Amino acid sequence: MSILQNIDQILKSIPENVKLVAVSKTKPKEAIIEAYDGGYRIFGENKPQELKEKSETLAKDIEWHFIGHLQTNKVKYIAEFVHLIHAVDSIKLLTEISKQAKKHNRVINCLLQFHIAKEESKFGYDLAEAMEMLRSDEFKHLEGVNIVGVMGMATFTDDHNQVRSEFKQLKANFDRLKAECFKNKADFTELSMGMSGDYQIAIEEGSTIIRVGSSIFGERQYVQK
Ligand SMILES: *Cc1c(COP(=O)(O)O)cnc(C)c1O
Repeated sequence: MSILQNIDQILKSIPENVKLVAVSKTKPKEAIIEAYDGGYRIFGENKPQELKEKSETLAKDIEWHFIGHLQTNKVKYIAEFVHLIHAVDSIKLLTEISKQAKKHNRVINCLLQFHIAKEESKFGYDLAEAMEMLRSDEFKHLEGVNIVGVMGMATFTDDHNQVRSEFKQLKANFDRLKAECFKNKADFTELSMGMSGDYQIAIEEGSTIIRVGSSIFGERQYVQK
């Protein structure tokens, strides 16, 4: 099936209020253009320089999401145009995003990443750490960032019960933050969870944004550098 057919099929199978980010990382611009020409506008990347390069050469009305781990010294590449940064996991990173956003007279929407998987290598907060950060004076002084929700990645496993319980954990964290830190903040609404292998489960558990790559663009080939 073509890229567009894949997108259409996923859109048909998910509720209207769930946003699909088409994860185009490692894929050539032609793949994005194919989806764009068919009317799709929401794409996700996880390398700052690659995203900057693609954003400069492709249409300006694309909504770009940064979905991966972001190093502080690379925020500058994406601050001017990025729509949502999905995986913020430190006050240091938030401070830099705020600083770069102000340079462009912007406020950048961000999600806090939570560590929900069993795997060691995944980044992210636990609930207590996130609350401590949100209550700090350092955070309160950041004018260039707007926290609109949370993000997480489940363990890479065929065990659906495991995946489901991790998504439930993320939803519970979202609800706690909403109740205790963002009670009067109407735009704290987003729960970014679900990828090609697990987005149906994620949606059942309350996801509002899914990030789907290989089910749209095919498997990725990683070249050794
Ligand atoms: C690559 C990536 C995805 C998409 O993964 P697929 O399994 O190809 O759908 C989603 N989220 C993040 C953070 C990623 O790095």
